[in-house]
Amino acid sequence: MEKFKELGLEGEILKGIEDLGFQVPSAIQGKVIPIILRGENDLVALAQTGTGKTAAFGLPLLQKLDVSLLKIQVLILSPTRELCVQIGKDLRNYSKYRTDIKILCVYGGTDIRRQMKDLERGVQVLVATPGRLCDLLKRNAVNIEHVHSVVLDEADEMLNMGFKEDLNFILDETSETRNTYLFSATMPKEVERIAKNYLHHPQEISIGKKNQGADTVSHEYYLVRAKDCYETLHRVIDCDPDMYAIIFTRTKIDARDIARKLQKGGIDCDALHGDLSQAQRDDVMERFRAKRLKVLVATDVAARGLDVDNLTHVINYNLPEDVESYTHRSGRTGRAGRAGISVAIINSKEKGKLRKIENIIKKKFQYREVPGGEQICRAQLLYYADKIIVAEPKETLDKYQHDLFKKFEVLTKEELIQKMVSYEFSKLLKKYAMVEDLNLSESERNERGDDKKRRGRCSDGQREFTTFSVNIGRNDDFTSHDLVAIINENAPRKGLEIGNIRIFDTNTKFEVNIQGLNEFMSCFRNVSFNGLPFTLTAIKDRYNRDKRYGRDRALQRKERRNSTAINKWQVEKKRSNNSKHGRFAGKKEGLGIVKFPQK
Ligand code: ADP
Ligand code: MG
Repeated sequence: MEKFKELGLEGEILKGIEDLGFQVPSAIQGKVIPIILRGENDLVALAQTGTGKTAAFGLPLLQKLDVSLLKIQVLILSPTRELCVQIGKDLRNYSKYRTDIKILCVYGGTDIRRQMKDLERGVQVLVATPGRLCDLLKRNAVNIEHVHSVVLDEADEMLNMGFKEDLNFILDETSETRNTYLFSATMPKEVERIAKNYLHHPQEISIGKKNQGADTVSHEYYLVRAKDCYETLHRVIDCDPDMYAIIFTRTKIDARDIARKLQKGGIDCDALHGDLSQAQRDDVMERFRAKRLKVLVATDVAARGLDVDNLTHVINYNLPEDVESYTHRSGRTGRAGRAGISVAIINSKEKGKLRKIENIIKKKFQYREVPGGEQICRAQLLYYADKIIVAEPKETLDKYQHDLFKKFEVLTKEELIQKMVSYEFSKLLKKYAMVEDLNLSESERNERGDDKKRRGRCSDGQREFTTFSVNIGRNDDFTSHDLVAIINENAPRKGLEIGNIRIFDTNTKFEVNIQGLNEFMSCFRNVSFNGLPFTLTAIKDRYNRDKRYGRDRALQRKERRNSTAINKWQVEKKRSNNSKHGRFAGKKEGLGIVKFPQK
């Protein structure tokens, strides 16, 4: 608590956060709290979700309130109703011992008249979505002239969601002498423009990314036959009408195909992968962020760095090659303390991999049964009912109301509901009237995966692995995760078997089980990693795996010894000499170095 005190916080507010278990301020809190307490500067703070922004602006603003004045003094704008509710809840927690502080949240999708009544009673802190606040302003139901502090929380998100006009309108209604505090995860042009127009010489603060708490993610799996994976995916999505998810696939071809199939199946979705132009990607992302798309189907590479909040699910349509990718994927949900679910849809062959992931993430996957038709229809119908109940009748309907009511007079309430639902859901009800149970029997589920069998078949010493070298290594922050992602994204075939990966300071060696070397190599011609061309060299060999390992290790040792002194070309030259004259001379097929020109 001392540290919070040093920042200038005091009294009941400190007691409130003590109850929440806060002990030391987060990085952004340490910087922002004193600035807001002083109230001299506007502020632009760049920070990812989960860094503790709510308390950063909430604590000093609550402390600064003049409680003798029952007027709105602090206005917090946030993009979604969920965030509004979350912020309201947090502020109430911080001010738990300050019963004199009045906080109100207003957002769309709920009865505006009730909010108007609450406003009439008087509040000091208003948390609002821009759309609803504009409605209230236009109805003269709210006065924001006394606001001395405006917070724009998740400003980039608000602009993504098309609230630009609303923001301009609202800010114009507030006093010129207010302070404005803008929080954003990114700084696109639009946000910059808002900052330029509405902030006065803002102080700028940027905070690095905090590791997102994976503790809020639960892990589930569906175990089905390989041929049923897609149908399972479709049902899992259909069974959760509130889902907002990213589906990960290993290859871009998969991403495209699955997105197309889901679209045909009536699901709002699109694909994000390396073949799209920047403009196409932006368009997909814009629709996804605005929640016009319910699911996004993406490859690991395409989804890297993508920061989307409030994802309810991450779905692993294929399990990734390595565990690191799995944690990257699942970490995209369950952010900022919210619960998230990471789903894996697997077949028996992948059970071993699932266990491996469990061991590393130190969490168990819960087995889930694939939903049946009845379960899906019930979920959809009840969701529809909820939506209808909270929908606000459009005023423009007034003129037709009389005629409509008259027309429906012939039906009872029950008949009306039955008919409307049957009409609205005819496709869904028909589709799921009779569907196959995709779940495996218990004995099938407990059968050992045939991972081992597969391995057995290949362990006859003739696995056709080819070793490759690439000119990027540890010094370039290259990880096995990056490598696997690049291979999967660009390889001509999906699900290639990747063998040993060894990352050195300046290069990386890896093995892939491929057939057509030329075809494989040509797929990587224009690939780059962090701006470095991904220059691939094939070290062709057909040795028995074990023998080759021995040889590779010897070579590696030698290479390590020489690596600082000689460059890559010399290493390769030495190697080919070795194969001609050295220990490896005379081996069938030899060790040929094939250097492919890169365009
Ligand atoms: P952001 O707005 O940056 O996404 P939040 O304000 O939602 O982040 O905070 C994320 C989580 O961290 C919340 O659960 C919050 O209670 C917690 N938190 C914030 N500040 C602290 C702190 N100083 N100590 C411990 N937990 C904190
Ligand atoms: Mg926040």
